[in-house]
Amino acid sequence: ALSERLSGIFESIRGKGRLTEADIDATAREIRLALLEADVALPVVRTFIAQVKERCKGAEVSKALNPAQQIIKVVNEELVGILGGETRRLNYAKNAPTVIMLAGLQGAGKTTLAGKLAKWLKGDGHSPLLVAADLQRPNAVGQLQIIGERAGVTVYAPEPGSGIGDPVKVATDSIAEAKQTGRDVVIIDTAGRLGIDEEMMQQARDIREATSPDEVVFVIDAMVGQDAVNTAEAFRDGVGITGVVLSKLDGDARGGAALSVRHVTGQPILFASTGEKLEDFDVFHPDRMASRILGMGDMLTLIEQAEAAFEDEQKEEMTQKLLDGEDFTLEDFLDQMQAIRKMGPIGNILKMMPGMGQMKDQIESIDDKQIDRTTAIIRSMTPDERRNSKLINGSRRLRIANGSGVTVSEVNQLLTRFKDAQKMMRQMTGSMGLPGGGGGKA
Ligand code: GDP
Ligand code: MG
Repeated sequence: ALSERLSGIFESIRGKGRLTEADIDATAREIRLALLEADVALPVVRTFIAQVKERCKGAEVSKALNPAQQIIKVVNEELVGILGGETRRLNYAKNAPTVIMLAGLQGAGKTTLAGKLAKWLKGDGHSPLLVAADLQRPNAVGQLQIIGERAGVTVYAPEPGSGIGDPVKVATDSIAEAKQTGRDVVIIDTAGRLGIDEEMMQQARDIREATSPDEVVFVIDAMVGQDAVNTAEAFRDGVGITGVVLSKLDGDARGGAALSVRHVTGQPILFASTGEKLEDFDVFHPDRMASRILGMGDMLTLIEQAEAAFEDEQKEEMTQKLLDGEDFTLEDFLDQMQAIRKMGPIGNILKMMPGMGQMKDQIESIDDKQIDRTTAIIRSMTPDERRNSKLINGSRRLRIANGSGVTVSEVNQLLTRFKDAQKMMRQMTGSMGLPGGGGGKA
């Protein structure tokens, strides 16, 4: 796995503050090999590595991660991005029925998928109809009927011995049937060949043209490895596809096909098939696939933990600062007063600030004249006193009161208000989701 490949390099670059170009190249080489081992197609690997290198070279230096971890993080993020980032939902037709056509080589898992999809849709409140438009293999219709029975979903198929051998007609008829019987999703199973074949492509194209599907889903066996690119290209150009389903991900495939197919077709991977049973099926998760391709689940967890721990440390520091009142001083208080004074009626402004709801009474008691008096009082303090309000003892209070032309009790009130404001700052940093989060701890 990649983690083993990289351990040597990790050893040599551990502790370096910044990655050299040579470090990045060496790491990129190992990642390249790991991707090839995971059966990602060579052209895809090349493009991918170039992208990763580019990003690593311009990367900001992270304080939370060591250089090797930084590269892995970039690789993982790029992989998840290329694999589609977010899971894409199925496109449903505005006017039922939604038509989903399945395409892919023989043995890819189309018929199995038809049943899985039907069951999944049924669970989601839909009423699907399975359509047997694979009239190539002798037993294909029968196979779909068995699967339909297991899924509890009706199968539309030509009567045995009726002589209807036209898959295009079966497909179009099935849509009329769905409308008549109130089915809202039609899943068309089509015939595949063992290899890429013009007749197969033509038939798939014909079905597509006749039914105008909302989705043309290309099903590919994840075990095919390097062949994935050729097959995907052929279906992309020969039929035109709107989404991909990877099957047989329960095997020992490393998942490289996912990356190749996604890259080549530019279409999202919608679902993953992970076994022969109808339940072995799920929407596709790019992040899980990325960690499968890298074989680095543990490493990624460590990276996340390192980043989270670092963030906690920073939060902790910030909270402590606020608790100590280090950050918010009388000088800041003065600045705020000045700023607020310029903005208009103070109560309105404060009420708009997040987390201020519970401070309503206090806010309303603040008026503009009071702000002016407060300003005068703070201006009568020495810089030391402004920075550290704890210095302000009885005799200093008297001096400040005299200096600003107010009573000692007004100075006392101001200091009380300042302490409230400090507390308010802590609550605000908490409620606004800023580092600090001191709300609960204060
Ligand atoms: P089709 O020719 O494309 O219709 O492929 P089928 O649906 O008939 O599947 C071919 C074979 O692969 C069958 O034996 C299935 O049971 C098996 N199969 C399909 N999907 C999966 C899967 O996700 N995992 C495993 N292990 N087998 C699968
Ligand atoms: Mg089939």
